Amino acid sequence: MKTIVVGGGVIGASVAYHLARDDAGEVLLIERDRLSAGTTWHSAGNITWKPLADHDRPVMAVLQTVSELEAAGFPTGWLKTGRLFLGGQSSTLKCYDEFDQAARAAGLGSRWLSHAEAASLNPHLAAEKLEGIWFNPLSGRLNPTDLTQAYARAAQRLGAKILEGTAVISIAAESGRVIGVDTADSRIKADRVVLAAGLWSRALLLPLGVHLAQWACEHFYILADVAPRLRRETPSFVAPDDLLYGREEVGSLLLGCFDEGAKTIDAAALPEPFTFTLLAPDWEKMAPYVERAIELFPVLGTAPVRRFVNGPESFTPDGLPLIGPVPGCDGLIIATAMNSTGVTWSALAGSLVASSVAEREPQFPAEPYAPSRFGDRAADVDWLKGAISAIVSSGYRKAALGPGTQWGGGSIREQ
Ligand SMILES: Cc1cc2nc3c(=O)[nH]c(=O)nc-3n(C[C@H](O)[C@H](O)[C@H](O)COP(=O)(O)OP(=O)(O)OC[C@H]3O[C@@H](n4cnc5c(N)ncnc54)[C@H](O)[C@@H]3O)c2cc1C
Repeated sequence: MKTIVVGGGVIGASVAYHLARDDAGEVLLIERDRLSAGTTWHSAGNITWKPLADHDRPVMAVLQTVSELEAAGFPTGWLKTGRLFLGGQSSTLKCYDEFDQAARAAGLGSRWLSHAEAASLNPHLAAEKLEGIWFNPLSGRLNPTDLTQAYARAAQRLGAKILEGTAVISIAAESGRVIGVDTADSRIKADRVVLAAGLWSRALLLPLGVHLAQWACEHFYILADVAPRLRRETPSFVAPDDLLYGREEVGSLLLGCFDEGAKTIDAAALPEPFTFTLLAPDWEKMAPYVERAIELFPVLGTAPVRRFVNGPESFTPDGLPLIGPVPGCDGLIIATAMNSTGVTWSALAGSLVASSVAEREPQFPAEPYAPSRFGDRAADVDWLKGAISAIVSSGYRKAALGPGTQWGGGSIREQ
């Protein structure tokens, strides 16, 4: 049995690793440029534990996988810093309280911080302005390119093959079953194809009459040169009331946001090749969030911005990824649309695809991620764009303020 994985971002590489680890037959990953060239290379790389259905076990799984990879000699850049959860609104604090109880029950050693302790952890934080600051120790960041390389090299060691610099032009199917992929040079036959081509996945399936409910949006962060520089171990932070997140990056302050009315992008309109490429800085969109951040970190009022990282990322109308088989096309499996959580969900995606290939009970419930869950609406591009422009911020806010704050609750995205 042969499986082709299309796309060498963090998701395709994780899928290749999980298939090779499973001894699932011949595995060939095809990447049109070099590994991590799409969205992965400019990701912030944060991983944050939360007691929510889409974050508890998937985060434990990715941290376990990272430690396996590192033990096998494949570095990922993982640095456990812990995370400050900044809260002003009472509903946010109530949510953190629930997180705290769950974290303590799980033995994670979380705690509420005094203003003085929070300020000692990050000297730029105007801690006294906040009603509450909760510290979650099981959070940190890694280098997404290193993680992708780690997955890919570990997969190769287990026998998988990786072909870079080759674009898949189309997915070949006959009589309701996938038979391989076409490149500019030839057809490569396979029994299964796993499509992990990030925001380019939708276009690759249109010729087969399959509409994936994903669309890309601008997604961005800035790097500000704060003085004094931050220590490397400074805990990252999240401020859902203001739709903000951030962390240390080489002494600077990385500040990102999940903006309201996110700008959608037609993947087909991006310049080609869009590899290791960024979008133009969008100051108009970022400015209100910097204003909010100055309230929390006054130093941002004067710190020079060294870099504006604006990259495309694909989202879905419910904030959850598309992972699993495509009904009506045997042998075709999807792993895409990671809603800005692809690094965190990479082990979840790899594991679900591997279970699907092995036809065994998955480690995670598969239904929430079923690619066909939006039905015919996935073909309605106007609906898709509207829903996705809204989910970037509403999904993020819901993570902290909405009803899905219990164990097994709703979707969550955390940077
Ligand atoms: C600004 C920003 C910050 C982020 N921060 C975080 C974070 O802190 N934590 C987190 O968990 N997630 C974060 N994310 C999200 C995360 O980076 C993405 O979800 C993840 O990188 C997506 O990986 P992917 O493999 O699905 O897609 P990609 O990385 O885009 O990979 C797809 C690959 O497919 C290749 N490809 C496309 N078409 C073809 C073809 N026809 N043939 C062959 N190859 C093809 C592309 O070249 C590309 O390499 C962030 C994203 C952004 C934009």
